[in-house]
Amino acid sequence: MLDHLKYLWTFPKVPILIELCLIGFVVYSVMRFLRGTGGERLFRGVVFLLIGFWGINLLTDRLGLERIELLFKYFLVMVFVVTIVAFQPEIRRGLMYLGGTRFGRHAGTEIEQVIEHLVDSASALSRKQIGAIVAIERDVKLGDFIAGGTPMESMVSAELLNTIFWPGSPLHDMAVVIRNNRIAAAGVQLPLAEHGGYDRQLGSRHRAAIGLSKATDAVIVVVSEETGNISLALNGKLTRFLTLEQLRQQLMDAMVVSKKNDNSKTGN
Ligand code: ATP
Ligand code: MG
Repeated sequence: MLDHLKYLWTFPKVPILIELCLIGFVVYSVMRFLRGTGGERLFRGVVFLLIGFWGINLLTDRLGLERIELLFKYFLVMVFVVTIVAFQPEIRRGLMYLGGTRFGRHAGTEIEQVIEHLVDSASALSRKQIGAIVAIERDVKLGDFIAGGTPMESMVSAELLNTIFWPGSPLHDMAVVIRNNRIAAAGVQLPLAEHGGYDRQLGSRHRAAIGLSKATDAVIVVVSEETGNISLALNGKLTRFLTLEQLRQQLMDAMVVSKKNDNSKTGN
C-alpha cells in the first residue's frame, strides 16, 4: 500500500489535478442533468460499480488473479452495454439538448412538451378570459369519466386546447382529459366537490377540479372565465392565482419528478 502511495506521488501533480477537476465537473453535470429522474440512481450505481472495479483491479494486479480480472473485464463490457440501453432516454435527451433544437430551453421529453403546451394555452386563455378545465390522468385511471365525454385521440397542442375551449366550439363546455400525453376526450363532466373546505365563492368549474382531485390523483388545471386566474388542483387542494412560471413548475413537480420517482409503482 505504501509502495502504491509512493508510486502515485511520482506522477505529475498539476495534470492530475486538472484531470480530477474535469472528471468531477463531468460527474456533477451528468448528475445535475439527471436530477430527480430514475437515471440519477442508476448513474450513482454505475459510479459505485466503477469505483469497485478500480479497487478490484488494484487487488488483482498485485495478487495476479488473472482469471478474475478477465471475468471482470467481460462484466465491465456487459455493464457498459446495459448502461447504454438503460440510459437510452437520457442519452436521447442529452443529444437533443446538444443538437440545440431550442438551445437553453431544450425540446425535452414528450411530457415536458405537453406541459409547455398546457402553459402556453393557459396563458392565451387567461389573457382572453376564456374558461377552461384540463384534467391530467396519473395512476388512477379516469376511464369512467372519459367514457362520458366526447372521445378524442390527439396530440396535445396549445392551439388545439384553445380551439376546444373557444366559446363558439361545441366541445368548450366541461373538461378536457389528458391520458398518456394525448387528449383522450373533451366535454367530460367531472365530479363536483362537496361543500366545505374551500372558498364558497368558487363556481362549478373550480369545484369540479377540487372534486376530481379529491377522488383521484389527477392534476387539474383551471382557467377562470370570470377573472382569467389560473389554478391547479391536486390531492383535494386548489392552488389559485398562479403565475405561468408557477404553473409550469407545479406541473413539472407533479408530472415529471413524481412520475420518474414512482416508476416502480404500478397503476390501478
Ligand atoms: P369561472 O371562474 O370560469 O366562472 P366557476 O368556478 O365560477 O368558473 P362556473 O362559472 O359555474 O364556475 O363555470 C361553469 C362552467 O364550468 C360550465 O360552463 C362548464 O364548462 C364547467 N363545468 C361546470 N361543471 C362542471 C363539471 N362537473 N365538470 C367539468 N366542467 C364543469
Ligand atoms: Mg363563474
